Amino acid sequence: MTAATVLVVALGEVRSPVLESVTLARTLGTPVLLSLQPLSEADTDALGRAGVARALVADLGEARHAPAVAGRAVATAAEATGATVVLLPTSFVAKEAAAHAAFLLDAGLLVDVATLRLESGELVGGKRVFAGTWETECAVTSPVAVATVRANAIVAADAPEAVTTAVEPLSVDATLPRGLVLDEHEEHPRAEGRPALAEAAVVVAGGRGTEGDFAAVEELADALGAAIGTTRDCVDEGWQPHDAQIGQTGVTIAPRLYIGAGISGAPHHHGGMQASGTIVAVNVDPDAPLVQIADLAVIGDLQEILPAAAQAIREHRES
Ligand SMILES: Cc1cc2nc3c(=O)[nH]c(=O)nc-3n(C[C@H](O)[C@H](O)[C@H](O)COP(=O)(O)OP(=O)(O)OC[C@H]3O[C@@H](n4cnc5c(N)ncnc54)[C@H](O)[C@@H]3O)c2cc1C
Repeated sequence: MTAATVLVVALGEVRSPVLESVTLARTLGTPVLLSLQPLSEADTDALGRAGVARALVADLGEARHAPAVAGRAVATAAEATGATVVLLPTSFVAKEAAAHAAFLLDAGLLVDVATLRLESGELVGGKRVFAGTWETECAVTSPVAVATVRANAIVAADAPEAVTTAVEPLSVDATLPRGLVLDEHEEHPRAEGRPALAEAAVVVAGGRGTEGDFAAVEELADALGAAIGTTRDCVDEGWQPHDAQIGQTGVTIAPRLYIGAGISGAPHHHGGMQASGTIVAVNVDPDAPLVQIADLAVIGDLQEILPAAAQAIREHRES
């Protein structure tokens, strides 16, 4: 396999995970973007800075939320561009769409990779598995490869030279498969100014130790521009929404910095955040499991430590 053309797919807006995939694509070949919704001027500016000279727009409307339709569009674009590598930023929908596209393209599929490289003509993807305890690599032996790329695995960087992005429409079949009806699609609004949990570079998570008062967690998250996460116990208590839950029955995250305050670090939670770059624990109990695996542990009351940390960060930013 040679990856002359690498198709990067934006299922929604062109945000950091898309630009991370474009950055990775540049190490494999020439990136071409497929967007399933119209591109804004800000999108094309960002793509130009990232070195994407060609962008295809398959405007699927609401049908883009159906993975079978999105997957068909991805396969159509891969065939139209002759791409041998197709990258999608990981999400629940992206993983399913990637599987549909791989089936249609007769391609090997890698899910949630953190690294990708071409070796002896094969695409090799790496990722951590089993709650972050094993590093694995997998090679695709088929002529075409489809991979979903984990958010924050690499840092999005501009290309050495910016280009002008030429946008062209791509005609695709947007009909839903027989028997499938797209009934309703609900976007969960994000707190203003906060990144989405699954793609945030910094996450501040609060657990039962907050006793339901998340003001200190929010203050530190605001100071850091971080997303807020939590444990299942806090969700069960009704203190936080389910889409903030990290862990086995919640979201798996791998931010560059994870701060867990008032969280014991039970295996069910641990499995969802262990791949984080740097782990900081704030806990009154020095024997808490999260303290044991943390890169940095602060022993004390989170209601004192988090506001003090937020204040120090604000002062540092202002100075
Ligand atoms: C099938 C199954 C699936 C599950 N899935 C998930 C999942 O996806 N995600 C998840 O998170 N959990 C999950 N759980 C629950 C999980 O097992 C734990 O019960 C949960 O993670 C514990 O939440 P916690 O750390 O907030 O609470 P606790 O375990 O009660 O820990 C609270 C911590 O706060 C500390 N603390 C108390 N007061 C303060 C203070 N003032 N300042 C600082 N520290 C303080 C304590 O020392 C303690 O370490 C699952 C459980 C089951 C059975």
